[in-house]
Amino acid sequence: MSEIRKAAVIGAGVMGAGIAAHIANAGVEVLLLDIVPEGATNRSAIAEKAVERLLKAEPAAFMSKRSAKLVKAGNIEDDLPALAECDWIVEAVVERLDVKQALYRKIDAVRKPGTAVSSNTSTIPLAALTEGLSDGFRRDFLITHFFNPPRYMRLLEIVSGPETDPATVARVSAFADVKLGKTVVTCKDTPGFIANRLGTYWMQLAVGEAFALGLTVEEADSVMGRPFGIPKTGVFGLLDLVGLDLMPHVQGSLERALPKDDPFQKTVRDIPLIRTMIETGLIGRKGKGGFYRLN
Ligand code: NAD
Repeated sequence: MSEIRKAAVIGAGVMGAGIAAHIANAGVEVLLLDIVPEGATNRSAIAEKAVERLLKAEPAAFMSKRSAKLVKAGNIEDDLPALAECDWIVEAVVERLDVKQALYRKIDAVRKPGTAVSSNTSTIPLAALTEGLSDGFRRDFLITHFFNPPRYMRLLEIVSGPETDPATVARVSAFADVKLGKTVVTCKDTPGFIANRLGTYWMQLAVGEAFALGLTVEEADSVMGRPFGIPKTGVFGLLDLVGLDLMPHVQGSLERALPKDDPFQKTVRDIPLIRTMIETGLIGRKGKGGFYRLN
C-alpha cells in the first residue's frame, strides 16, 4: 500500500486551511492552493493570507513551527502541474457542485493515476460529484468530511462509492486514523451523510425556536453548549465558527436532495435574520463577527 508523502488541499478557506495545517502536523508536506484573485499582483495572495491566519489561529492550528513550514501556499493556475507529485488531493472549495466538478476535471488531467482525491463537501452526494468524470477518477475518489476546527474535531466522515477502489479508502482511512488522529466513521452516500443530515436539522430548529422564545444568544448557548454535550461554543457560537454563509448552501443542498415529503422540508425554514446577517457580512469568525462580536 503506497504511503501519503505529499498532499494538496485546494480551497484555502476556513476548512481547507485547517485541513492543510493538520496534514502538516502529521509531518507531511502540503500544497495549499486557492484561486488567483482578480487584478491582484500576488497570484497566491489568498493561500498566503490563509497561512498567516493559521499561524495566529486560536486554538493553535499548528502543532509546531516545523509543521508550519510544511505548508506551501500557491494558486490553482500556476501550481496545477505540481498536483502530479501528490499522493492525496483534498478539495475544500465552496459548496457548489458546478465549481467542484470543474475543478475535478482540471485535477484529473494532471494527477498521477492512483492519487486519492477527496472532497470535504458537507452535503453533496458522491454520486453527483463524480457524474461524468473518468473511470480512473471515480476509482480514486471519496469524500473525507472534516469538522471545524480540523486539528481538534476528532470525527471524520468517509463516504465511498460503488466504484471507489477499497485500497484507496483503506489508505486514506489509515492515514486519517494513525497520522491525523481521527475517528473515522464510514457513511452511506445519503444527502448530508450523518452529521449534517442530523446536525443541520437540529441547528436550524434550535436557532428558529430560540428567536421565537425571545431567548438571547447567550441564554440559548448556556444550555445548548456543554450541558447538552455540544462543544462549549453552543449553537450560535458553532454557527459563528462554521460560517453563517455555509448554512444556505447546506440547507439548499439538502432541500434539493431529499424527497418532498421528508420532515426536513416541512420543519426547517429560512431564518430571515440569518439572511440579513449574511448580506451585511456578519458571517461569523471569518467575517466581521456573527452572533458574537469579534474582539
Ligand atoms: P470558505 O468559503 O471558507 O472557503 C472556500 C475557499 O475555496 C475560498 O477561499 C475560495 O476562494 C476557494 N475556491 C473557490 N473556488 C475555487 C476553485 N475553483 N479553486 C480553488 N479554490 C477555490 O469555505 P469552507 O467553509 O472552508 O468550506 C469548504 C468546503 O468544506 C465546502 O464544501 C463546505 O461545505 C465544507 N465544510 C465546511 C465546514 C465548515 O465548518 N465551514 C465544515 C465541514 C465541511
